Amino acid sequence: MFRKILIANRGEIALRIMRTCNELGIRTVVAHSEADRDSLPVRLADETVCIGPPPTASSYLNIPNIVSAAMLTGSEAIHPGYGLLSENARFAEICADHGLCFIGPAPGAIAQMGDKISALQLMQELGVPTIPGSNGPLNSQLEASKMAREIGYPIIIKAAAGGGGRGMRVVQSPRKLASELELARHEAQIVFGNGELYLEKYLEEPRHVEIQILADRYGNAIHLGERDCSIQRRHQKLIEEAPSPALTTELRMRMGEAALLVVKALRYEGVGTVEFLVDRVGNFYFMEMNTRIQVEHPVTEAITRLDLIALQILVAAGGSLPCKQEDIRFDGHAIECRINAEDPLRDFRPCPGLVDAFVPPGGLGIRVDSHVYPGYIIPPYYDSLIAKLIAWAPDRSQAIVRMQRALGEFAITGVRTTLPIHQRILENAFYQKGEAYTNFLQRRILGS
Ligand code: ADP
Repeated sequence: MFRKILIANRGEIALRIMRTCNELGIRTVVAHSEADRDSLPVRLADETVCIGPPPTASSYLNIPNIVSAAMLTGSEAIHPGYGLLSENARFAEICADHGLCFIGPAPGAIAQMGDKISALQLMQELGVPTIPGSNGPLNSQLEASKMAREIGYPIIIKAAAGGGGRGMRVVQSPRKLASELELARHEAQIVFGNGELYLEKYLEEPRHVEIQILADRYGNAIHLGERDCSIQRRHQKLIEEAPSPALTTELRMRMGEAALLVVKALRYEGVGTVEFLVDRVGNFYFMEMNTRIQVEHPVTEAITRLDLIALQILVAAGGSLPCKQEDIRFDGHAIECRINAEDPLRDFRPCPGLVDAFVPPGGLGIRVDSHVYPGYIIPPYYDSLIAKLIAWAPDRSQAIVRMQRALGEFAITGVRTTLPIHQRILENAFYQKGEAYTNFLQRRILGS
């Protein structure tokens, strides 16, 4: 097992990783920007290293500084968390070149799944259903319009290098195709440094259901069931739950098996998530794979009672999986609300600044993962997630009641948050019945 791990991330996930390290007796080094000097993970770490000024390009994405910080502190491994460098194959390679263990899969697996087109092609070879689409990069406008006509509108244009719900454009009619392609290419080039695009059929009111997988280097691989992440805003997740109200045991097994096919094909190591869209009649289609720990991993932890970060570290250190597929039991129901410092009344505009009061809820079945404390100043440079509230109960309806109770207790003053939106979703009769699809928020809560 590692003796010292450098955490190359910030906020709640840095703290989350640190908590497990503390329990495992692993020393932690937090690499942080100047803007995060006073953050909770920095205060609680065994050691800290400032890796640069506030902008992520100068600090959290600054590979030379992070690698030097790891070498200077005698760290043996780097945990990248999510976002930032977590899916950067080049970073994983550089870590290895310096004798550092990158806690994640091999660079080749990151690269293959990071390119959405090569990921889709692999899935097709494996016989996993994918959404009808171009199956490859769009080389010209003419080709795109021919394909879109064949598939039928609406279609969605995506960036091959896309992520985080960005770089996607829905096109309703042929009239808009040329201009949207132009915008998408421009955006993809600026945001991801790669203008390559592909297109697929835009499914109406699908559910987003993803399978959590876990594998070691000895070929043992299991799945930990699904998370339903259908409650989204602009293709970004707001609420996640497990199990999915839409899955039968049989469908769960089939999707789990499909996810494990890719794990075996890639000889994948570590934790990962295979994302699918599911239609009303239970057809599922591969969308993409994330080769890292995800924001919403706590709902899986709640129903399996496993520590995913501990397992991730264990397999990265060369350990073998301590459990088999048949050992995995799903117990009860868990829901996670992402609390963002955003103003729902002003189109969810980020709301950085001083948090005066911060009183998280507690009690049976409640977990709060947050790096915020009273007096904390949310810096304007990073994403606006300030807390994850997770409620567990024996069944879905009790989990909803418990979440409502916890949302009501949660007091945050000084900045606006998405707490009221969560209240509105949780009290919605359609949501309570289990109705959810990726445009639910727009249709049932905000109104189109
Ligand atoms: P990212 O990597 O940016 O998160 P994804 O490919 O995971 O992008 O898609 C994010 C979300 O976009 C999905 O959860 C879904 O809401 C929407 N989406 C993506 N592809 C489609 C599609 N073909 N039809 C309908 N919605 C889609």
